[in-house]
Amino acid sequence: MSPLPTIVHLDADAFFVSCELALKPELRGTKCAVGGRERGIISSASYEARACGVYTPMPTQRALKICPDLILLPHTSGLYGKVSQQMFDLCETLTPLVQRNSIDEGYLDLGLCGFTSAAEIEQRVRGLQQRIATTLQIPVSFGIATNKLVSQIASKLRKPRGFVVVPPGTEAAFLAPLPIGKLPGIGAKTEAALNARGLRLIGEIAGKTESELESLFGNSWREMLATARGEDERAVHTDHEDAKSYSQQETFSEDVAVFAEIERVAKRMVDELLAKVREDKKRVRTITVKVRYPDFTQETHGRSLANATDLEAPFYPLVAPLLREAWTMRLPLRLVSVRFSNVEDGGQQLEMFAETDEKRRRLAGVLDKLNNRGSHPVVQHGHQLGAKDD
Ligand SMILES: [Mg+2]
Repeated sequence: MSPLPTIVHLDADAFFVSCELALKPELRGTKCAVGGRERGIISSASYEARACGVYTPMPTQRALKICPDLILLPHTSGLYGKVSQQMFDLCETLTPLVQRNSIDEGYLDLGLCGFTSAAEIEQRVRGLQQRIATTLQIPVSFGIATNKLVSQIASKLRKPRGFVVVPPGTEAAFLAPLPIGKLPGIGAKTEAALNARGLRLIGEIAGKTESELESLFGNSWREMLATARGEDERAVHTDHEDAKSYSQQETFSEDVAVFAEIERVAKRMVDELLAKVREDKKRVRTITVKVRYPDFTQETHGRSLANATDLEAPFYPLVAPLLREAWTMRLPLRLVSVRFSNVEDGGQQLEMFAETDEKRRRLAGVLDKLNNRGSHPVVQHGHQLGAKDD
């Protein structure tokens, strides 16, 4: 079977502005930008504003000078991270192999999804693009190829709402006619310097002799040549892979609107997950609570401790506040989940915590065993430990 283009790069278009426009659709089609007014810079500009010469990062005062009717939008605290999370959550409905590179860019690896043709992959990724557009009102560009390098260049080629597929075997031909500045690591200055030496297009690299390449790129000429051919072996690293995370979710048969009930379910998950963490002799540092509404929109909030632990006590007080932060809409919930991440090996507890935590750990371990004997927990050990001081 011939290889399939299973690596996808996605890049949201004018992300901060798109998040704002999702809330203020009346501003669609206008020259607008997100940025600070006084001595600030533009951090995201609509395509209409870009056509007027506004780019990022540009001092706001300058942007207002060249584009006097620019509508300046202040940063909305918390909004972009939340939308980003929702966007990547939608990606994870397609594949668990999702690598977030930044708030609005990342890679998906569809290699384990069982797709059997390029057409099927294309159709599924278009479906994802559509779903992000309809649920979040965020335009996203996609590039699909056999590796990260080519998919990333492809996604940036036809923005906004781009969708570029590079069939396997055509990587070098795809890159050849593009300006050399499209290659990662070649900034405007390097590009100008290379242009001055007669090198304009990526395809021209392949036509150079070894010594010419060496004089242009020095020691890194071999990598440059491989890059120009569209070769790239890097794997997609998921956010949860080395440090595997511990998570659990519960879908309610009927939507639940009572806070205390959700909190009780979340705390039970904390108990059960940390019992597993102890069993694996690991410690965790970050807790994330996710809630999902009946219409499948979801919100996530997380917090990290200063030190990793395998005990309930430090996480217990965070459950209710995280739930409140995540559950912002006055709607009943369909699902709640708890995840622990930033997993560390258990052997490195700091000395200063050693004594009291060691006692608690032993006690918790004993209770884990007791709880495993029957189908029902004998003791709600997390609640007991949580009630202790410090
Ligand atoms: Mg972007």
